[in-house]
Formats: sequence, structure tokens, C-alpha cells
Amino acid sequence: MSESRFLVLVLDGLRPDLVTSRDMPNLAAFRDRGASLTLSKAQFPTHTRVNKTSFSSGSTPKHHGVHFNKIYDPNLAPDQVIDLGDHADVEKADSQGRLITATTIGHALRDAGHQFALVHCGMSGAPWLLNYRGDRIGQEHVSMAGYGHSTAEAARLVFEELGDLPDPKGVNYNRSRFAFEAFKSVLYPSLKPQVGLIWSDEPDKSLHVDGLRGPVSKAAFMHIDALVGDVVSWWQARADRDSLNLIILSDHGHVETIGGYPIGEMMRDAGLPVTIDPTQKGALLLPFGSGGVYLRDQPRQVLADIVEWMQGHDWSGNLFTDDLDGVNGVISGTFSKALASIDHPRAPDLVFTLRRLPAQPPEFPFGRSLDPSGKGSTHGGLHNEELTNICFAAGPDFKEGYRSETAGGIVDITPTILDVLGVTKPDTMVGRALGDLLINGAEPADARAGVEAVSVDAGSYRQTLSLRRLTGRNMAMSATRD
Ligand SMILES: [Zn+2]
Repeated sequence: MSESRFLVLVLDGLRPDLVTSRDMPNLAAFRDRGASLTLSKAQFPTHTRVNKTSFSSGSTPKHHGVHFNKIYDPNLAPDQVIDLGDHADVEKADSQGRLITATTIGHALRDAGHQFALVHCGMSGAPWLLNYRGDRIGQEHVSMAGYGHSTAEAARLVFEELGDLPDPKGVNYNRSRFAFEAFKSVLYPSLKPQVGLIWSDEPDKSLHVDGLRGPVSKAAFMHIDALVGDVVSWWQARADRDSLNLIILSDHGHVETIGGYPIGEMMRDAGLPVTIDPTQKGALLLPFGSGGVYLRDQPRQVLADIVEWMQGHDWSGNLFTDDLDGVNGVISGTFSKALASIDHPRAPDLVFTLRRLPAQPPEFPFGRSLDPSGKGSTHGGLHNEELTNICFAAGPDFKEGYRSETAGGIVDITPTILDVLGVTKPDTMVGRALGDLLINGAEPADARAGVEAVSVDAGSYRQTLSLRRLTGRNMAMSATRD
């Protein structure tokens, strides 16, 4: 059995093109010295909690069932939108059935006798996406939202050593500093995890405040680079460095946004039977940058009406419905959800994005999009800029100074870790080991899968999705709407 260990540091929302030796010298140096996945992709929909679940399960929404930061599943909660950031919501829904329908990293490691430990910055429910049902199987996490949202043993250990947690609200760098301290001073020596994870809520939190060029975000970039410097220094000084690998990831990128669209109000004004209140009758709308409509008590014709209405508006982007033939959805001009590996019994009847706008005009150097909030920068949709993430790795199992162009992304990280540890991959884990990053590995058979552009249309509405077909999943690269 492998003696290797892993620490994964996630820098939420960091775009790879922001990692320069001028602005982020520590992270750029780490990238250049180790192995990097240069074409790495986030999972669509590019929301944080979708990508948390995609990381932990090594899988897609087709298998894990998480499409947005909030989800609707009448089998778990018929009259409620389940907020995956809310611990009470998560526990209540999970008491009615499996909230995550794929096997996650903690269970795969437990079955092989390995320990998993996480320190999580973010909302109270979200660590449960990374350490699903960990409290039942001895896999531990500390939530920086509060010790009450942590597993009991990890909370006890960290509280005894470090005391109260920093303020969980707003932009507060003390959270990610504390998270690293809790990991290195308490959880790593006490629990000796084979796989440790630190999830930093920066720079994402700051990006949502003032965008890719704002002063709040610039300060956050400096903070995370200093954090990376501290983590790398600790790692390099360790006596067990010969067995400890360090992986630094982000979960998605960001695009600039030029304005908000009150989709719910606009649908109601158009006379469509849609509500955002699950206790009311009507199709249920979850209105995010990529959002969903659940038909519920409404006839199928309502779905066709909503699609036709959206296709007639220039803010509307890409549209996905149930599968017709592998490419087309059941409504004219829509894609099949299967094409983006988001088909799941729990998936909304309609998944939509807002329109991608022409890339990078001078006043929007980081791309631009439409977004419901219209603040800061955003993510959730199918822009290339949202779908890019960082994936850098170094340590005893990884090549040095190596740049890989293997097709892959966040879904492949847990399968790579399990492969090194010699742990059997669960059936639902469709990601595969990024073998060419490893000293003794080989690239996967589909490493060079080409980019394919698929288009469907209805009248003057036409949408195009660029994707790579990998074994077990399709990986979205970007999408447009004419
Ligand atoms: Zn995120």
C-alpha cells in the first residue's frame, strides 16, 4: 500500500490567467516547479457547490445530483428549496434520502482504512458536500461557520488547541489563516490524514464584491498568495515531505458582468405560470446565472412555452431539457441535458444560462456576461472564463516542471489521488487518474479527446456547445448563443 499523503488547498474562484509571477509570485513559482494541468476545467454548472460535490465524488451532476447552490427535490423536501449552504437544510433533506447520490472521497478512503480531514471556509452546510456523512464514518471536518457545524472530534481537537473561530461573515482573511493553522497544528498531527483538504473562500468572496479589477479583489489576491507562501514553506520544511503531496486547485473561474435580469418577474409579467416560492402552485424557478425550472404540477406545454419565450429574448443563453437523441432535447432548439452530463432524476426540467457576450472587448478584459445580480464578477454559466480553473501539484508522486495538456479537470482530482493510494475507484466516479502528471503514470486513453462543437436551433435561435467527449462524461468547454 502506498505511503503517500495529500494536502489539497482550494482557492475558491481563482482564474488561471490571474496567476502571474508579478501578482502571485508564490503560486506562480509553485505552478512552475511542479506539474500543472494547463487546460483544466471546472464542472458545469460552474457554481461552487456543484464543483465541491464534483471534486468530492470525482463525478458529474449526472451521478451526484447537485446542479446549483440550492436544489429542489420533492422526494427529499416537497415544499422547500434545499439550501446546500445551510446545515439545517442539508441535515433535514438528507434524513429523507441521499442528498448526494454518488460515492464521495471520504467513503472511498474509509473503505481502504484511510483518514480524510477537511477545514472548510464557507457556509455551514457546504462542508457536508465535501465530507458527505463523514460524521457516521469517522471522517472529520471543521467548518469555519461554527464548531456546531463541524464533526465532533475535529471540533473538539481544534477548539482545545486554538479556541474560538474568527467571524464567519463577510470578507475576513483570518478565516483562511485559521483554517491552515487548524490543519497544520491540530488535524494533521492528531489525525494523520492520508488526504487533507483546506477550502479557502477567497478570492471568490472578494470577487463577488467588486469584480476582477476591484481593490477588494486585488487585496484578496495578495492574501491568497501569502497563504500559498505559508503553506508551501510549511510543506517544504516537513520531515515527512518525501511522502506528502501538495495540490492547489480552484473550483471555477469568474467573468465580469454588465447587468442584472429579474427573470422571475419577467416570466410572471409574460403570464407564464412560474413561481420562486415552492409552497405555491406553478413551475418552480431557481434563478441563478445558470438556473433551472422544475415543471412540478404544470403540463408539458408550459415547458415548451417557457423555452419559446426564452428563445425570443436576447439575454437568454443556452437551454437544456430531457434527452431526445443524445444531442437535442425534447423541446425544439434545446440541448439534451445528457450532452453536458447533467441528466439526473433530480435535474430541473429546464436548465438555462444567460447569454455569453462577445469575449473581451477593451472595457471588459476578463470577458463579460449577463447575470441576475449585476455585481462584482460572477460564475455559474458556460463561459470559457468560468469553466477554467487552476490545477497545480507537486510532491513525491508528481513530475517536476511539467505542463500537461491532458483533457480533464476538477472531476479527475479525487480519482488521481485514489489511484496513487491504490484505492479502488467507486462505480459512480467517472473521473480518471491524470496519470501523466505522475512520475510513474501514463496519460489516460482519452487524454487527447478533441473539442467538438455541437449546434441546435429553432427559428432564429441557435446555440452552440463546445465539448470534449471523455470516457464516462462529456466535459463542457464553452458555449454561445446566436
Ligand atoms: Zn467557488
